[in-house]
Amino acid sequence: MLNFSPSATESEFRNALVECGRLMYQRKLITSTDGNFSIRLQNGNILITPAGIAKGRMNPDDMLILNLNGDVISSRPDRKPSSETDMHLEVYKQRENIHAVIHAHPVFATTITVANLEFPNDVLPEVMVTLGSVPIAEYATPSSHEDAEVIRPFLKTHNAILLRQHGSLTYGKTLEEALIHLERIEHAAEIYWRAKMLGEVQRIPQAAQTKLIEMQEKFFKAE
Ligand code: 13P
Ligand code: ZN
Repeated sequence: MLNFSPSATESEFRNALVECGRLMYQRKLITSTDGNFSIRLQNGNILITPAGIAKGRMNPDDMLILNLNGDVISSRPDRKPSSETDMHLEVYKQRENIHAVIHAHPVFATTITVANLEFPNDVLPEVMVTLGSVPIAEYATPSSHEDAEVIRPFLKTHNAILLRQHGSLTYGKTLEEALIHLERIEHAAEIYWRAKMLGEVQRIPQAAQTKLIEMQEKFFKAE
């Protein structure tokens, strides 16, 4: 049984990252060597995916352990940490209660940024209640320190960010929660795209939005 919970052992977390990659690949949230994901271990170190391999087809011993400064604590000799490690460390440094970070290249959500549109925050009730809004960060060169810089303004107030012409960043108390946020934004983006193809996109009426925002406040408090 796959353990995505905060109390899992290091070995279970390694398996969880393998399984997370498999699910994301199947669901077209990543392709090729795209994406990287990580977990904060109980001792404060970070378990992260390696750079440059297909994340849909990983083994448990592919993962590396780093400290919060990004120094490698343990790794297979033929593995290097994700080239986007700085972006992950930035999330963990700013948000103490976050224990898992997922960077993906979801097709529909990324398409929205390529088309220079806003994410449809006010189209599906579930998005309003569970995510509030999904900002789109400034364009940054992938695999550079720029990624960590462009997400900084949104980290304290959002749990999902789109990286312009690149992909997504979601995070949560568990890997499960980070994956749920990712699935949610991609589902909403696909529905939005399909609705645009059929005709005019229907926004949630203002009075109904007020109710959803109240629900959202309760949802965030319960976290
Ligand atoms: P890494 O393989 O170095 O983690 O990079 C993947 C990626 O998503 C680049 O944008
Ligand atoms: Zn990427």
